[in-house]
Amino acid sequence: MYDLIIVGARCSGASLAIFLGRLGYNILLVDRATHVGPTLSTHIIGEVDVYQHLRIEKRMNSSGAPFLTRFRVNVDSHLFESDLIVTERAMSVRRELLDSYLMEEVKKLPNIKVELAINIKDVIKSNEKITGVIGIDENGNEKRYQGKVVVGADGRNSTIASLTNARIEQQSSIDELAVLYGYFSGIQPLPVGTIEWYWTKDSIAICNPIDGGKHCIAFMFHPSNFKSWCNVDEFSCKISKLNMLSPRITNLSLEGNLKGIKRINSYVKNTHGEGWVLVGDASANIHPISGVGIDNAICTSEVLAIQLDKYLRNQESWTDVMTEYKKYRDERIYPQFYASQKTQALHKTAITESQNSATSMLCTFPSLAKNLTIRSEAILQILQEDEHE
Ligand SMILES: Cc1cc2nc3c(=O)[nH]c(=O)nc-3n(C[C@H](O)[C@H](O)[C@H](O)COP(=O)(O)OP(=O)(O)OC[C@H]3O[C@@H](n4cnc5c(N)ncnc54)[C@H](O)[C@@H]3O)c2cc1C
Repeated sequence: MYDLIIVGARCSGASLAIFLGRLGYNILLVDRATHVGPTLSTHIIGEVDVYQHLRIEKRMNSSGAPFLTRFRVNVDSHLFESDLIVTERAMSVRRELLDSYLMEEVKKLPNIKVELAINIKDVIKSNEKITGVIGIDENGNEKRYQGKVVVGADGRNSTIASLTNARIEQQSSIDELAVLYGYFSGIQPLPVGTIEWYWTKDSIAICNPIDGGKHCIAFMFHPSNFKSWCNVDEFSCKISKLNMLSPRITNLSLEGNLKGIKRINSYVKNTHGEGWVLVGDASANIHPISGVGIDNAICTSEVLAIQLDKYLRNQESWTDVMTEYKKYRDERIYPQFYASQKTQALHKTAITESQNSATSMLCTFPSLAKNLTIRSEAILQILQEDEHE
């Protein structure tokens, strides 16, 4: 009998295991993967504190991924740029590095049993309460595990969410953009680590420096065009048309393959029921345009760990701790869910010639640029009112 069974050993599952494992709980961390290697992700990470709490911050800092402290937005030929304000720095740590740092911390804790290559197929129930899981190992043998709590940290196609009939609270109402990305060498970095965002006529592109002097470049576009975008020459051609990037391209070369996802259906699900709880993408899957999935997974795991500790020590009831956890999850996730939908919808709005000319004036007449700044609070208010509608 484990105190906790965690299904899924990536950022949400491994971090939950670390937080509760350090408190001495007897934990099973199970994943169907044979090793926790690369996964779909463009890797932008913005939180700082939670990685210190996990004690992996030093390894992240020496991963070779530069600190990103600027944000640059290109709208057609115009450029808006500033220091980052939502975080002191972001980083783009490849997932094979980040997830392996988490696993190294897990392995320091003898009270966490890690079982890889086990595909969880079913749950064990007793009087409508989930009391365990059933998996199949590589040889087709059935494995049964009993625990006081079962956590679904098993990502956006969560088996635990399906088996527990976790209710969908909110679902995307738009045709969500496909995502395709690759790691490229042959791009001169900007002097200060910068996340670059490009609004183009048919796509949104994001470019950020990663380790080894490479850049991760992701394009988001209508899913009907997915096949043609998958052609490496076409993808490279799209990169060379990014007007502020093209002068920095010396000898563009794709490292590895293009990776991505055609159909994304964002959702927010109910978090818990009797004996089970969801965390990370299993609980809420927000479109990657938000760039917050990793931080969300890890921050909600930290809060879940605090609540589960109270429950496992018989300090508070299941209902009370789960209510607290869900409140945190909702307050964190819902604004991001709606913002990611609005950003995607904005992609369809074309910019007219006259709007382009007016923006060029604002960017190139210093007095207009200064006056724009002087009136920026009023403009921000108008834009925020628009967003609320
Ligand atoms: C194209 C793309 C780009 C992205 N870019 C970013 C970004 O820049 N920044 C960011 O913050 N987020 C990004 N994200 C989102 C981010 O990758 C996810 O939010 C994050 O990985 C969620 O972590 P998780 O631990 O909840 O789930 P996952 O990382 O999906 O891990 C789930 C684990 O569960 C295991 N599992 C699943 N089912 C079973 C089963 N039945 N039995 C046993 N094990 C099982 C899987 O093998 C996997 O190891 C991106 C996502 C995509 C698709």
